[in-house]
Amino acid sequence: MSTTASEALFARAQQVSPGGVNSPVRAFRAVGGTPRFMKSGAGAWLTDADDNRYVDLVGSWGPMLLGHAHPEVIEAVTAAAARGTSFGTPAEPEVLLAEEIVARTPVERVRMVSSGTEATMSAIRLARGFTGRDRIVKFSGCYHGHVDALLAEAGSGVVTLGIPGTPGVPAHVTADTIVLPYNDPAAVDAAFAEYGDQIACVITEAAAGNMGVVPPHPGFNEHLSRTCAAHGALFITDEVMTGFRAARSGYWEIDGQVEGWQPDLMTFGKVMGGGFPAAAFGGRADVMDLLAPVGPVYQAGTLSGNPVATTAGLTTLRLATPEVYERLSATSSQVQHLVSEALAEAGVAHTLQTAGTMFSIFWGVAEPVADFAGAQAQDTAAYTAFFHAMLDAGVYLPPSAYEAWFLSAAHDPDVDSEPLSRLAEALPGAARAAAAAAR
Ligand SMILES: *Cc1c(COP(=O)(O)O)cnc(C)c1O
Repeated sequence: MSTTASEALFARAQQVSPGGVNSPVRAFRAVGGTPRFMKSGAGAWLTDADDNRYVDLVGSWGPMLLGHAHPEVIEAVTAAAARGTSFGTPAEPEVLLAEEIVARTPVERVRMVSSGTEATMSAIRLARGFTGRDRIVKFSGCYHGHVDALLAEAGSGVVTLGIPGTPGVPAHVTADTIVLPYNDPAAVDAAFAEYGDQIACVITEAAAGNMGVVPPHPGFNEHLSRTCAAHGALFITDEVMTGFRAARSGYWEIDGQVEGWQPDLMTFGKVMGGGFPAAAFGGRADVMDLLAPVGPVYQAGTLSGNPVATTAGLTTLRLATPEVYERLSATSSQVQHLVSEALAEAGVAHTLQTAGTMFSIFWGVAEPVADFAGAQAQDTAAYTAFFHAMLDAGVYLPPSAYEAWFLSAAHDPDVDSEPLSRLAEALPGAARAAAAAAR
């Protein structure tokens, strides 16, 4: 497999962009090697600058639910672009997309933004505005975009002030962020015992997907919901990754709808933009109506609700029928089975975890992973070897062990047909490479 064109582009990119990328994980730092510069995608496949073809199991980190360049999405987007790409006025597609989100999820009102980061940042501002409180609770290993206050790490005590997770975030900005271990209701109770009347909100991924897939234990989200309600705090579920992906509405459908609780606010992104920069936050009407221009909490965006982006999202969601999720689920199970079988055959200890149609693998871990400490116990060297063997065989996996694998409706669940046949052929060799590299 030649990679000279990607190497040349990467060298040029590093001259003009930090690390040669516009988002750090794309640089392959966790696995080493040259990132592949993709030039096209179609269905389940990506083609790089050297014309190598890969089965794609990243799906642009989640958005490409229907696969790349779905003909109906492209047709709708092309037509929308021809009518004008941005008006700076309200327009019909954003209304239709908001209606679709309200119909699928428990939210009553939606405000559109352009990235998941903006969605969580705005939801937290709104929660603080609504409650008149400053403190927020988040969980270690949950990622909510690069919002200053959410780039916090736990302090040393059980319930302490958050410390900045990156240079550039002042200590006072994370001082109001309480960082707790995931899936630990006792830690939540301790935080509320100490700061209950000062906490504006708890924000959590509806099912954690950014430390690998770590689903909430049964009753954990419900506990968060009840605890927030008891203390006058708002409960925010971040469904930027899981929304319209883990299941038709999102992880709430698997969890909240079953256990009978509702979030006060939710955030969405990824799938709802259909591959374009579109995201949203939404929730209870009485909370959402505190936003400008109805209420005093300011929030705005030049390209928010952009007609091309919302057309892409709307078309994607309209095509994402229950049958699409059934197919995704079948493909996901099949891939999990193939990978698990190959790893077991090669003697690689692993734990496979799912959240609806999403899944990931923890390497060298034999126990279920419940939190970030458990996720960090994995053997990333085994994954690095596996990743490169798969890449060389034309299978594109996330360039980090801490990421979910994403399939699309364009992946045929039939193991005897492409693209899964390519995956099946590549797996035994990659599993042996992982076994050889395992610590
Ligand atoms: C991707 C992600 C975000 C951030 O979205 P961006 O569009 O990358 O800013 C926020 N929350 C979760 C759960 C995510 O997976």
